[in-house]
Amino acid sequence: MPIRLSPFELMEKLISFPTVSRDTNIPLIDWVAGYLDSHGIQSHRYVDPEQPKHALFAHVGPWDEGAIVLSGHTDVVPVDGQAWDTDPFSVVEKDGRYFGRGTCDMKGFDALALWALVEGHYGTLRTPLQIALSFDEEIGCTGAPPMIAAMQPVLPKGAAAIIGEPSTMQAVTGHKGGTGFDTHVVGFEVHSSLLHTGVNAIMAGAKLIEWANEMNTLNMAAKPTALAAMFDPPFTTVHVGMIQGGTAHNITAKDCRFAMDFRVVPGEDKDKWATAYLSKVREVEAQMKAVVPETEIRISERFDVPGLQPEQNGLAETIVRQITGDNASHKVSYGTEAGQFQNAGYSAVICGPGSIAQAHQPNEFIEISQFNAGHDFMKKLLVRVSA
Ligand SMILES: [Zn+2]
Repeated sequence: MPIRLSPFELMEKLISFPTVSRDTNIPLIDWVAGYLDSHGIQSHRYVDPEQPKHALFAHVGPWDEGAIVLSGHTDVVPVDGQAWDTDPFSVVEKDGRYFGRGTCDMKGFDALALWALVEGHYGTLRTPLQIALSFDEEIGCTGAPPMIAAMQPVLPKGAAAIIGEPSTMQAVTGHKGGTGFDTHVVGFEVHSSLLHTGVNAIMAGAKLIEWANEMNTLNMAAKPTALAAMFDPPFTTVHVGMIQGGTAHNITAKDCRFAMDFRVVPGEDKDKWATAYLSKVREVEAQMKAVVPETEIRISERFDVPGLQPEQNGLAETIVRQITGDNASHKVSYGTEAGQFQNAGYSAVICGPGSIAQAHQPNEFIEISQFNAGHDFMKKLLVRVSA
C-alpha cells in the first residue's frame, strides 16, 4: 500500500528542499512526481529550456473539462542575511506556529493541494481537480505563463483556479498588475569642473526618477475610477527601489543603474505606462546625446505581471465564498499568478492559509490554526466536487 502522507508531513517534506528562486527546484518536483506516481497519479512537467527548473501539473477525477485547479509556486525567497532562530529548511513547531521558509509562502498550501489531489484520486469525484506547481514566482511570476501554456494540450481545460497565496483564507478577487524596467544610463566621464562637456549618468537618471515622482503626484491627485477605488492606494504607483552609480565625487558619473517599477490598477493599461516611460527615456537621452553623441539609456524589461480583474460572479470566487463563508470584498496590491490564469481563460481567485505579513520574513511561520483552516477548506472542497 502506498503511504498517504498527512498535510503536515507533506509540508515538512516540501520545506526540506531549499528551492530558493535562484536555485534548481527539480529535486522537489521529482519527489512530488514520485509521490503522485506511487498513488497511480500521472503528472506532467513543463521543463524550462534555459535553467534547471521544472513545473508540474496533474489531473484527478473524470477526464472532463471544468476542473478546479489548485495553483502554487515551489520557489521561496532567500534566507541570506536573515537572522533565523531555527533551520529555515525544516519545520519547527513552537507557540502554536509552524516555522520554516515557505510555511506561509507557500509550501503550506502546496502541501494541502497535494493532499487534496491524492484524497480526490481515491474518492468519487464528480468535478475533476488539478494541481499546478510553478517556479520563479518570486522573481516576477515568470514561470507560470509557460506552465499554463504547457497544460493546455495535455490536460482537459480547467474552469477555475484557486491561487493559494497567503490571504488568511479570505477570497481575494483583485490585485494590481506590475511591470518593471532595469534602466542603465550610460554617461560620459570628465572632471566635474568641466561638467558641461561630459554627461553625468546619475544626474540624467535623476530626471527619470523625478518623472516618477511627478507621476505619483498626478495619480494621487486624480479621482479614482470605481475599479481603482477598490485598491489601497487607489492609483498606479511608480517606484525606484534600487540605484547604483558613480565612482568619485569629482567625476561626472559614467554609469547609473536603477529599477523603475510600476504597480498598475486593473482597468488601466500597463503598456500605456511602459510607453510613457520609454518616451521620457528618449527625451532625456536626446538631451544627453546633444552633449556627447555616444551616450545612451538602455532599458530592459525585468517583469510583466498582469493584474487580477475582479470578476462578476466568477466561478472561482463563488466556490471559495461558499466554502469559507467569506462574502467581503478583498483586494491586495501585491502581484500573483492569478492574473496569468485569468488571462488564459480561467476564473481565478486568491485564497490560501497564512498572512502575507509573514511572507519573506526571517522566522517565517504559519499559524497552526491557519494551516488547519486550509485543511478544513480542502475537506469541504472535496465534498463539494464529489459525487
Ligand atoms: Zn507566494
